Amino acid sequence: MSTPTTKVAYFCMEYGLDDKLKTYAGGLGILAGDYMKGAKDHNFPIVGIGLKWKQGYTDQYIDSEGKPYDSYKNQNYDFLEDTGVTVSVKIRQRDVKIKVWKCEAFGNAPLYLLDTDLPENEDAWITGQLYGWFGEERIAQEMVLGIGGVRALRALNIDVDLYHFNEGHALFAGFELIREKRDNGHDYGKAFAESREEIVFTTHTPVIQGNESHPIDRLMYMGANLGQTVEQLVDMGGAPFNMTVGALRLSKKSNAVAQLHGETAQEMWNHVEGRSEIVPITNAIHKPTWVDSAMTDAAEGKGDIWESHIKNKRALVEFVKERTGAELNENVLTLGFSRRAVAYKRANLLFRDPEVIDPLLRDGKLQIVYSGKAHPLDDGGKQLIAEIVGFSKKYPNAVVYVPNYDMATGSALTRGSDVWLNNPRRPKEASGTSGMKAAINGVLNCSTLDGWWPEACNHGVNGWQFGDGFVGKTEAEHDKHDGDALYKVLLDEVIPTYYDNREKWVEMMKQSILDCKDQFAVKRMLEEYYELLYV
Ligand SMILES: *Cc1c(COP(=O)(O)O)cnc(C)c1O
Repeated sequence: MSTPTTKVAYFCMEYGLDDKLKTYAGGLGILAGDYMKGAKDHNFPIVGIGLKWKQGYTDQYIDSEGKPYDSYKNQNYDFLEDTGVTVSVKIRQRDVKIKVWKCEAFGNAPLYLLDTDLPENEDAWITGQLYGWFGEERIAQEMVLGIGGVRALRALNIDVDLYHFNEGHALFAGFELIREKRDNGHDYGKAFAESREEIVFTTHTPVIQGNESHPIDRLMYMGANLGQTVEQLVDMGGAPFNMTVGALRLSKKSNAVAQLHGETAQEMWNHVEGRSEIVPITNAIHKPTWVDSAMTDAAEGKGDIWESHIKNKRALVEFVKERTGAELNENVLTLGFSRRAVAYKRANLLFRDPEVIDPLLRDGKLQIVYSGKAHPLDDGGKQLIAEIVGFSKKYPNAVVYVPNYDMATGSALTRGSDVWLNNPRRPKEASGTSGMKAAINGVLNCSTLDGWWPEACNHGVNGWQFGDGFVGKTEAEHDKHDGDALYKVLLDEVIPTYYDNREKWVEMMKQSILDCKDQFAVKRMLEEYYELLYV
């Protein structure tokens, strides 16, 4: 494509930049970090806006009873440059000063981080913990990101053609665009319509509870409305005010994050009158961050695939030993499973039938490495982790739980596992970029047909699917169907191929890499943003 000129300001609550910096919680932040890195590598005229989280997201470890607990620590931001710019936003009738820092690491695509941790602020805590709170605190954070973000761009004299909200958290930036136009004399209708022309939106989770909403009176009390009336807010986001619904109405175009998610999102938001069109643009990854180039080279004939993979597998064995003390066996088929601990992802599906799984784990046919945090306030998710920790005690060195899932863990696991297991209850998984990391590292995906996988899966050729896209009427029915299908594919295909047909296995690894390395690289995603969303 020709060099794009549309200048985009990208807003996101979290950015996965580096494994030492807890400015991300999960997939949303990893996507945003990879997007910025891609913008730098491929010279797209983009600036990022985020928050400078003092503590960021939780470190999560396991206590002596096998239960997860949370721990926060201050982050190190020595690498940031002080822009000298400060803006302010009135939150709950109080002026909050916001300092603007610049992250130079992205060269032509700088990332600006906003910070309220200043001595003059009574509300210094706003940029304290990422997703640490709901309610008023969350609204305050989103006001800093959205309203503070637009004011920072103005103060920095950065011209912007389009505002891209990655998730609904940034919606108040749209409120600020409306306010600016009204202050310039436009009536509300015209200000709304013109702001809409400058905004695009990415919607993520198809899980209804993941789409944040706030009582209207709370938005008014916080001062987030910026002069809009209760009726105007209700017309935009409903009551309670749903941030996703608001963003769908206050954007000229939206995107879903995989082809299947496009269909799911259309259906899910069909009832929203006046919403923007939702086009599917499948997520992708920044290969230099996640992929061992020896693997892509080997798939193209420059090197030995299996040898390079075994190096990565040994590195994983080392990593697991360092973090947990457990000793994996490099000759045993190794499944990797790491993702947020939440019910629909079914971390425990593999253990459904002890009669099937017990001998596989005891006889050294299979070993599995788990990782993943639960949201600090999600007791159900923490219970799931405790269950997996229980299995790791029952099957020492065959089932391992690595605490405190982070980018380093994600990287080690998506390079060094043999198989990437993914079994969400379709169609709840929006995309699932960890499977892309695995695929391009020659780690074979074994997954239900959810998120990105239906776009890449060539069963028995570059990985495996199980469940055939089944959607159960009840969760119990769904789990029984997929659980049986998982055992079948493991016993009939995955395990025999691994132990009895290494040649085919290596051929599948190669196919996985070749099929995915361009299709799921961030360059393709950025080009599609410019061709389908930023127009
Ligand atoms: C890649 C990655 C994610 C996102 O992957 P999903 O497949 O969406 O779970 C989340 N967290 C970390 C640490 C990652 O490396």
